[in-house]
Amino acid sequence: MSERPHVVIVGAGFGGLEAARALAQSPVDVTVIDRHNYHLFQPLLYQVATAALSPADIAQPIRAILRHQQNATVLLDEVIGIDAAARQVETRFGANQSYEHLVLATGSQYAYYGHDDWSRPARPANCCQVSQRSPSSKAVMSAS
Ligand SMILES: Cc1cc2nc3c(=O)[nH]c(=O)nc-3n(C[C@H](O)[C@H](O)[C@H](O)COP(=O)(O)OP(=O)(O)OC[C@H]3O[C@@H](n4cnc5c(N)ncnc54)[C@H](O)[C@@H]3O)c2cc1C
Repeated sequence: MSERPHVVIVGAGFGGLEAARALAQSPVDVTVIDRHNYHLFQPLLYQVATAALSPADIAQPIRAILRHQQNATVLLDEVIGIDAAARQVETRFGANQSYEHLVLATGSQYAYYGHDDWSRPARPANCCQVSQRSPSSKAVMSAS
């Protein structure tokens, strides 16, 4: 790692990728961490759920998206903690990172207004996992 300020971006959704690209010409080293190796284009999830598209049509490897950005590194890992005092990001699989600047772009979670049990029949449509949910084994869009 160089002597330049280290910017750690957690999440490679729209927010995280936009932040990384905005820093392309800046004198910083950028590390993008995501628990998936792909960026998911969520607006087209419904087309996958209805089999108009395949999951691969709306998921693109993060490393491919940022491959031309000289100052960017992509890590596949899950952030499980942040030590703000020590300026360190802790990850599940050990890719811990020290940073000068931290961007948290981890998206959002659905709210069930105190009825968390509703999450089973009304699963959030923000994940590109296809699971077997019905007795007829019909594949439908699901979420982890
Ligand atoms: C079905 C659907 C249709 C939509 N249609 C539209 C539309 O037509 N127009 C529109 O403007 N918007 C639309 N949206 C909303 C839009 O997709 C979201 O607002 C946008 O994707 C949010 O971007 P984000 O970067 O904030 O989060 P996300 O895209 O959710 O990205 C968050 C990233 O952070 C990663 N992450 C989360 N936690 C961790 C962790 N602890 N460690 C490592 N990585 C982590 C995730 O893996 C993910 O890659 C739609 C959303 C959905 C679900």
